[in-house]
Amino acid sequence: MTDVDSIKVHRSAEALRASLRADGYVGWDERLALVPTMGFLHAGHAALIRHAASRKPRVVVSIFVNPLQFGPNEDLERYPRDLEHDLQVCAEAGATDVFYPEVADLTPSDIEIAVEPGRLANRLCGLTRPGHFRGVCTIVNKLFNIVEPSLAVFGWKDAQQQIILRKMVKDLNIPLTIEGVEIVREADGLALSSRNTYLTAEQRAEAVNLSLGLNEARELAVTEGESDAHQLCDVVCGMIEDNTSGVIDYVKCVRLDNLEELDEVEPGNTMIAAAVRFGTTRLIDNVRF
Ligand code: AMP
Repeated sequence: MTDVDSIKVHRSAEALRASLRADGYVGWDERLALVPTMGFLHAGHAALIRHAASRKPRVVVSIFVNPLQFGPNEDLERYPRDLEHDLQVCAEAGATDVFYPEVADLTPSDIEIAVEPGRLANRLCGLTRPGHFRGVCTIVNKLFNIVEPSLAVFGWKDAQQQIILRKMVKDLNIPLTIEGVEIVREADGLALSSRNTYLTAEQRAEAVNLSLGLNEARELAVTEGESDAHQLCDVVCGMIEDNTSGVIDYVKCVRLDNLEELDEVEPGNTMIAAAVRFGTTRLIDNVRF
């Protein structure tokens, strides 16, 4: 067990910045990386932290369940939390700092200004989660401004989020680089997610069909040359409809660079992304090729 006492835990933006300044870190410091998370960390988050630690000597992990990115009927209140375990994961994966602010510190009740993510946010998850990516962009932009890292690491699990944040960094001239880490999966293929803990044993058993379907569609495209995007989506839908009680939110084949829907696969620039509800739990996953 790695000693969690080696990690500096900061409870406010002010405290975090004071610590960084005291150690000689300047704005957008070349030695500093940020890994934003909502906590309840698992091996997917650990992969992001390990990647950041392989690139920079100082790695801040933020743990903040962002109220701005939850809709009124979503799971903000029941979102799982376990700080002690999170600190252990952070320490073992090589983080140096944890930024764990109070809700009122990052989202005071009088907050008014937001980052408007534009057209990319009107696709895929944006259609059923209005305002979600606006909330994500607003908070991540705040985290960037508080930490001022030169590198920020995100997972491809949330591909649309990462694509929107890359556009935000470009459009708002934020002086850092974003790097993406591949999706970490359970042995059977289910993408790790903090929300998997909501699943009943039966739903968990069914949920694997999401990744199985996506994987089969990618295999069809890559090894058998199926180029019809709609056929590929049908394969994913069929796998879910035939084997689960899940309700499909969307299964779409899109261009990776602008999330526009494809009729024909574009090698190297294609993503099939899906969101499926198992009971009240909404899972997302994707394959890119
Ligand atoms: P979250 O705590 O769910 O907001 O996720 C924080 C970061 O971890 C985001 O960049 C996610 O894309 C990433 N992430 C979550 N699950 C996984 C996973 N299974 N594999 C890789 N990255 C992940």
